[in-house]
Amino acid sequence: MNLANAFAKGMPVIHRPPLDREDVCDEHGAYVALCHLGSVWTGCPMCARAAEERRDAQEARRQKDLADAEWSQRLGRAGIPERFMRCSFDGYVANTPMQVQALEFAKGYARDFERVRASGRGAIFVGNVGTGKTHLAVAIGMHAMRRHGASVLFMPVQRAVRSIKDTWARGSAMTESQAVAVLTYPDLLILDEVGVQFGSDYERQVLFDVLNERYERRKPTLFLSNKTQDEVAATLGERVMDRLREDGAAVVPFDWPSHRGRAAQ
Ligand SMILES: [Zn+2]
Repeated sequence: MNLANAFAKGMPVIHRPPLDREDVCDEHGAYVALCHLGSVWTGCPMCARAAEERRDAQEARRQKDLADAEWSQRLGRAGIPERFMRCSFDGYVANTPMQVQALEFAKGYARDFERVRASGRGAIFVGNVGTGKTHLAVAIGMHAMRRHGASVLFMPVQRAVRSIKDTWARGSAMTESQAVAVLTYPDLLILDEVGVQFGSDYERQVLFDVLNERYERRKPTLFLSNKTQDEVAATLGERVMDRLREDGAAVVPFDWPSHRGRAAQ
């Protein structure tokens, strides 16, 4: 027995060129099977491709499920009220020049969110109940989350202040700085119902601390209010208003009667 044979003993043999034979797949009919090594024959190429497509589809579904889960988490954390969840720019009814202006502002703010995020530029939406302030603010938030991967938090201002005050109670699960962090972390904070009088100067101070922290981090805040611009300014206080002006924040008037109930959200 020569050396080559000794090596080959019990080892598969490579066929060069490969062996070939006709074979038949129950599903796809005749094909040419190849044997490159020993007695291992290739299967139906059509079946192989179908299996690969199934694996690809499975992987795509898995990726989509992950993305969906991530999206619902992001949406869940955003605190957007249920009835405003479907708000979009397309769904906003703009008939008058003022309404068109408000819509265009909101669209521009959302599309430009990378720069908004870098500059911390905020905005104040002022006008009657039912004029679509929340609708446009939520549409901005949705766009920022979807297209820019931003974190967004929507909250009435009183609840924001209360979330911090609650930590002063004995046995609170959160520390004050943790509660402040909840409000300073999001890339975009939307504070609703601004202008309702605070009970105390403490409360105004708490709000100032949050807004100041966001200001320092160049994180934009949107303010929504049913009150007049003067009342908003009085509630937020001179210092906050100064900083908003420095950042080039816009005041967007929603100066028309309510159309809630008339138009779809
Ligand atoms: Zn086949």
